[in-house]
This record gives sequence, C-alpha cells and structure tokens, in this order.
Amino acid sequence: MVPASNNINLHVEDRAKRAMLSGNATPIMTKPICYSTKAFSTTSPESPLSAAVIERRVPTATDVQIQIIYCGVCHSDLHFARNEWNFTQYPAVPGHEIVGRVTAIGSGVKKFKVGDTVGVGCLVDSCRTCADCTSGLEQFCLNMVMTYGSTDKHLGSPTIGGYAQSIVVTEEFVLRMPSNLNLAAAAPLLCAGITTYSPLRRAKVGPGHTVGIVGLGGLGHMGVKFAKAFGAHVVLFTTSPKKAADAKRLGADEVVVSTDEAQMTAQAGSFDLILDAVSATHDLNAYLNLLKRDGNLVLVGAPEKPLPLAAFPLIFRRRSISGSLIGGLPETQEMLDFCGKHNITSDVEIIRMDEINTAYERMLKGDVKYRFVIDMASLN
Ligand code: NAP
Ligand code: ZN
Ligand code: ZN
Repeated sequence: MVPASNNINLHVEDRAKRAMLSGNATPIMTKPICYSTKAFSTTSPESPLSAAVIERRVPTATDVQIQIIYCGVCHSDLHFARNEWNFTQYPAVPGHEIVGRVTAIGSGVKKFKVGDTVGVGCLVDSCRTCADCTSGLEQFCLNMVMTYGSTDKHLGSPTIGGYAQSIVVTEEFVLRMPSNLNLAAAAPLLCAGITTYSPLRRAKVGPGHTVGIVGLGGLGHMGVKFAKAFGAHVVLFTTSPKKAADAKRLGADEVVVSTDEAQMTAQAGSFDLILDAVSATHDLNAYLNLLKRDGNLVLVGAPEKPLPLAAFPLIFRRRSISGSLIGGLPETQEMLDFCGKHNITSDVEIIRMDEINTAYERMLKGDVKYRFVIDMASLN
C-alpha cells in the first residue's frame, strides 16, 4: 500500500456548512473527511465474506493511520460475522488482531512516527475519564468502543474491523510491537494473547500452581504458553486426542482428553485455576469438580448459548466461577513487552484474504494450528 497521502480518495460531506447555507441554524455534527479503502465484509449471518470498499476517517490531530500487514482470525470474528451474539449490524467487517505500519500521523501525535510497527486489538476508544479508564481497565468502560461491533465516535456508524487495508485509531489505543517478534505470529497476541495473559496474571499464576487450560484453539494455545512461562504446572484439556503431542510441545505438562471420564476423574480436586477457552456449549460442571477448595474457573470462551451450572460443586468446596475480558491498554502493552522479552508468539497459519470463508469452516472443526492470520497484501 502506498503512503496515505497518495492513497486517499477524499470526499467531504460537510452537513454543517450546507445547513448554514440553507439558513438552518440548528448545529449539525460535521462528518470528518473520509477516504476509501478495501476490506472484506459480510451482509448477513448466512452470507460469506467478500470484497468491499469501506470508509475510514482521514487522521485527525490525535490519530494514527496504519497500513494493516496482518490480521489474526479470532473465533469472535466468526461469532460476530454470523450474529451469534445478536448485536451484529451489517455490513460487518470483523478483525481485531491487527498489526501494521504507521503511514500517517496527526499533528498532535507524540508516541508514534511514520514507519513504526504497531498493533491494534479489540478496543479503539473509550470515555477515558471513568474509574475503569483511569485504572487502565478500558475494556470495562461503559462507553468503550470496540474495533468492530460498536458505534464509531467520529462517524456515528458501526466500527469497522481489521479485515481491511488500513485503519485509523486514536494514538492512546495503538500499541507498540516488539521489534524482535515475527509480525504475523505476533498478530494474535492482540486478542488471544492478552485474553489469556490477563486472567493468569490477575491470579498471580506461578511456580507451585496447577493450572488447567480448556480447549487447544487460538486462545487455549496462548494460555498454555503463558501459564508455562509463568512457571505453573500446566494441564491441557482437549476434545481432540490428536492435539496431545502439540500441546506438550507448546508447554503442557499433561494432556487430558476431556471426553474420557476416567482421565477427568483422576484430576479431581487438583487445580488452583482453570481457564476455559471453549467457543461452544460444553459441560462446565465437569471442570468445577477438578478445582481445589477455593479454586477458580475463569471463563474467557463466549459460546452463543447459556451454560448450565450446578450449585453443589461450587458450595461444597467454596469454589468460584468468573469471567475475564481481553485486557486494558497498559496490560496489553505489558503483555507485548513480556512476549518480546521471552520470545513468545502464536503458532500461525497464514492465509489469503479470499480464503477466510474456508478458514471459518476449518476453525469450527478445530482444524487450525493454532491461529489463522490473514496476509493483508492479498487484498490489494
Ligand atoms: P478456537 O480457535 O476456535 O478454539 C476453540 C477451541 O475450543 C477448539 O479448538 C476446541 O479445542 C474447543 N472446542 C470447540 N468446540 C467445542 C465443543 N463443542 N466442546 C468442547 N470443546 C470445544 O477459538 P478461539 O479464537 O480460541 O476463541 C475461543 C472462545 O473465546 C470464543 O468463544 C471467542 O469468542 C472467545 N473469546 C473471548 C475473549 C474474551 O475477552 N473473553 C477474547 C477472544 C475470544 P479442542 O479441540 O482442544 O477441544
Ligand atoms: Zn478476539
Ligand atoms: Zn471509561
């Protein structure tokens, strides 16, 4: 992609100016100047994704424009494209594991310069003043703006994700990528990475802890890598016995096939924490029984349907069940820096943009080792 100045198809819709000319004194918000860029979008839950042209705002004083080089494919993208969470507005452009190069900056941008290698995850803005924002927990801000699936503060239309040639993001929500990491393999850190890093860090997982990770997919394989890097004894639970060798290579000390009742029973009462990264309906209660007294089952997976919960495994051993959502901006940068220092990236399979529909079907079958990443040059 050429630098922003050569690539922008400018057009102005200055409604305020038109209102003034027509004598209508009511102030109307001015829509920013936009430019067109190629993307892949879907128009209904049943439609495949296909080529589209979208609009991004021309960078304002505090914005960074990024040429997207790679974008990871999260299972959330699939839930969202198919409206499994019931809030998708169409046309919809998924993608929130974005890495790329800065092509333009606004006059007030301080942290980045043209040419920098940067990342954008699941958040592109928030209110920045509430207790969550000022604590660096922007993901819980009631007015947070997700990379896709929210309302764009500038344009008033749905936000557009990273299956696109470029994106424009306010500098506070842009992250610095460690220079030593392979960029394609680092893209999934922006969602799968932080979503597993954050709950393990919050629980202060370390030597002496026994940690279970449920599901060896995009999130799960990062959970295994982080739990191992933090020094825990790591047990991977999978429905796919053929993934056992990979799980060990990725850092699991033990692998349990969760459909084998005897293997599950053998683990009863032994876990401090279990991180559940499963994308579909499954039996949570089987995992509660594996926790120690006061043990915690943390859900990061977000299946479309509610999961039944039995009271007895919780109350008899004072166990708890909780959830966790990605991570805030400071923790995401901390995670990226940790990955740079310890050379941690995802195991990825690079695909072309037009392979996305096949990739979704393969992801549903658990046939990905262990994250698809789109080479965005294939969109040119
Ligand atoms: P993924 O790559 O498709 O991995 C999901 C894994 O779950 C599969 O590899 C499979 O592992 C297991 N699984 C799938 N169907 C199953 C079933 N019916 N029963 C039991 N296990 C099953 O998905 P992902 O990208 O890692 O995302 C996982 C979930 O986390 C999704 O729901 C996603 O939306 C959610 N998510 C949440 C957050 C957050 O902030 N909380 C962030 C990102 C994603 P095995 O083959 O090993 O069994
Ligand atoms: Zn995600
Ligand atoms: Zn806020």
